[in-house]
Amino acid sequence: MSRDHTAEQWAISSLELMTGMHDWRTQHPTATLTDIEQALDARLAVLRAQMLHDLALASTAATWPTTPTPAAHCPTCHVPLRPRGRHRRRLRTHGGKRLVLHRPYGICPQCHQGFFPPRS
Ligand SMILES: [Zn+2]
Repeated sequence: MSRDHTAEQWAISSLELMTGMHDWRTQHPTATLTDIEQALDARLAVLRAQMLHDLALASTAATWPTTPTPAAHCPTCHVPLRPRGRHRRRLRTHGGKRLVLHRPYGICPQCHQGFFPPRS
């Protein structure tokens, strides 16, 4: 991940969030505090998901280039997993936003279960 590019995207998204909230407030002059809070939270959740996605990708790239680490074992059979490239892992953030990460994936040669190995 390009640090400059990512930070720039976050800055743009933050600015869009703030101007978007300003416009929203102008369009909703009678909004209650709860309405404002909900509108703001919805936008913050989007930004939060984007940052989380970028930061998670950064740590994956830094610590785990393409395949599961040699230490990744099947938790049942205790044998090393066979790398199976990257799969999409769908997660949900605390803000309720969907997050799709491409994570290394391994198959156990004995029980044929697939895992996203835990990272150290
Ligand atoms: Zn197994």
